[in-house]
Amino acid sequence: MYIDLQKRNCPLCNDANSKFLFSSKDYRYHSVENEFEYSECTKCQHIFLSTYPKKEDVVKLYPPTLMNYGDIETSNSIGYRVKNHLDFINIRNTIKKTGIQKISALDIGCGTGLYLDQLKKLNGHIAIETLEGMEISEHACQVAKGKGYTIHQCLLEDFQTDKKYNVIIMQQVIEHLHDLDASFKILSKLLSPDGILIIETPNMNCLDRAIFKKYWEGYHTPRHFNLFRKKSFGTWLGKYSFAIHEMKLKIKPVHWIYSFQNMLIVNGDKEKGLARFFTYKNTFLLLFFTPFDLFQILFLRKSSDVQYILKKKDS
Ligand SMILES: [Zn+2]
Repeated sequence: MYIDLQKRNCPLCNDANSKFLFSSKDYRYHSVENEFEYSECTKCQHIFLSTYPKKEDVVKLYPPTLMNYGDIETSNSIGYRVKNHLDFINIRNTIKKTGIQKISALDIGCGTGLYLDQLKKLNGHIAIETLEGMEISEHACQVAKGKGYTIHQCLLEDFQTDKKYNVIIMQQVIEHLHDLDASFKILSKLLSPDGILIIETPNMNCLDRAIFKKYWEGYHTPRHFNLFRKKSFGTWLGKYSFAIHEMKLKIKPVHWIYSFQNMLIVNGDKEKGLARFFTYKNTFLLLFFTPFDLFQILFLRKSSDVQYILKKKDS
């Protein structure tokens, strides 16, 4: 299956001049047969998918084989539990620092509600008013609703409400948004003046991107439409009255693992040969690659994953 693609300007500064980086296909999931191009804006250095699908075709890039939410949910590996615990400490400290007394949270792209589960554990530390999620996968929605959360089954750009939230979370979501401007117009209305918007996304300032180039998992070709750089992202956010309050570099050993898998895929089959050993379920590899990330964070101030804490500009 082929879809229509159109050249686009830089989505952050709208400049028409960009430097071609590479072209690649969806070798992992074979969603569509098209060749996609990534480019870097010559003005603001933002990296983006420069041959762009139409909104109605985006869904075709997400075949059912892509994400097995149930699989992740039931994974009980040590690596998964350690990550969960670190995430919990991080969110607890982040919210405590803001002085928020009562949490009303919205997790955009909440999946089966794993992050909402983390927030729920804060009960006892900080009062909780509401925990809501937004998700498009029918299966994931059902699981999250089963846990008692209010879930909105829609895209962010189609979400309509008068409600305000003081903790909005977007974990590995912003890079997938088709219409960044429409989405941030809505986010600006959703966030209360004292609230925080927590965004976690791949970070292009890292060793693994330089090493793996087009095979780097941060591109997740062709599903990651934007790879942000703090400076140009911060400038663009000003349009929607947001400012970057804090930036935390995070450990992401799975990016090393899947970058290797992308490179090792033979004849388009990731279940064949060495490629099949390179998955997030491989505890040995998770432990093996973690020091690489610790090294680049501590000594180079680089990492392939970053968490931005945003606040309203005038707060
Ligand atoms: Zn630009």
